Amino acid sequence: MEAKYDFERKFREQILQCSRCGFCQAVCPVYGATLRPALNARGKMLLLKEVMDGKIELNDDLIETLFQCTTCASCFENCPSGVDVPAIIKQVRTDMVNIGSCHPAFKGMHEVLEKYPNIYAEDEAEDFDREHNRKAEYVFFVGCVGLYREDESTEATLELLDRLEVDYTLIDEVCCSGVLEDVGYKLNENLARTNIDRILATGAGAVITGCPYCARTFNNKPQYEELKKHGVKVLHVTQFLKDFAFGVTTHKVVTYHDPCDLGRHCGIYDEPRETIRKIAPNFVEMRHNRENALCCGAGGGVRGAYPKNSLAMARKRLEEVEAAGAEILLTECNSCVHNLSNAKLRKQKFKVYNTTRFINELMDDAE
Ligand code: SF4
Ligand code: SF4
Repeated sequence: MEAKYDFERKFREQILQCSRCGFCQAVCPVYGATLRPALNARGKMLLLKEVMDGKIELNDDLIETLFQCTTCASCFENCPSGVDVPAIIKQVRTDMVNIGSCHPAFKGMHEVLEKYPNIYAEDEAEDFDREHNRKAEYVFFVGCVGLYREDESTEATLELLDRLEVDYTLIDEVCCSGVLEDVGYKLNENLARTNIDRILATGAGAVITGCPYCARTFNNKPQYEELKKHGVKVLHVTQFLKDFAFGVTTHKVVTYHDPCDLGRHCGIYDEPRETIRKIAPNFVEMRHNRENALCCGAGGGVRGAYPKNSLAMARKRLEEVEAAGAEILLTECNSCVHNLSNAKLRKQKFKVYNTTRFINELMDDAE
């Protein structure tokens, strides 16, 4: 039978390789929040096999199952058969969008990015009282969440860069639009063009991003390849900061949450820990860490489309912070900070910070 959809043409073998072992169930944050086996990776692969066998059609009835995935890659990391579930889910979402079937929240996000330069449909970005679009050694690229929802965190990151005398400029940035590919649409070429032109105009040799997702997009998407061709490196801020000395320490018990986009998707586990160990001798790991870190529940468009389940996933992560006895939870992703902070219960006394913000506050206290 001829394949009807691209997901089958590209991933048929992988979907059939799913042995139904169920190793993915224990690590799937969506399953953890819903306890619905249909929503874990195995359930999704079984459903897609039924579509390939012609037993069911791709249509709106499957939105709930196929769009409820944070693309965290925990299943892929733990799958003995090597089934790349996030890649399969992204392709299926594209196929569904092509037949006119999409979660309304994702359709809305696509429409917003056709009209606005950011995912929040806002007109005025915070300018952080700093120069934009000037010649500098580095561009600091904030990302939508850091610009519009976690601006205090971003201000602290910029203060830290100022203290470290980094020669950076901000640019009039627009959404990198990588998220569109996660939810079934194409990356917005106009937005990519705008970012590339504004970055190149500064003459910077490197872009430092506060957002792991923007770093992934710039480094991996063909629409941003021109940056590489011009010799512009892209670093996440945790990579940039690892060789600095900060001259401050805390005796508080500190733990670290690996953002999926930085950890499993980019393999960056050591750099943030090197930085944290310099400032926090009482560093502890949570039960699930590094490759096995639990997802905060914000990715893959799930925070917008399934906010209640997204918060439930974040709460599971926060239970591990309590169990580790940590007073400070550090991460380095504004999306994770945003979701984890929103999910924190009043009785949970630990604080949630981006590492950069925490270091900056320690430096404030030391003055
Ligand atoms: S771990 Fe892999 S092979 Fe096992 S059920 Fe999950 S997706 Fe299938
Ligand atoms: S990518 Fe994450 S959320 Fe999606 S099925 Fe796999 S474990 Fe579950």
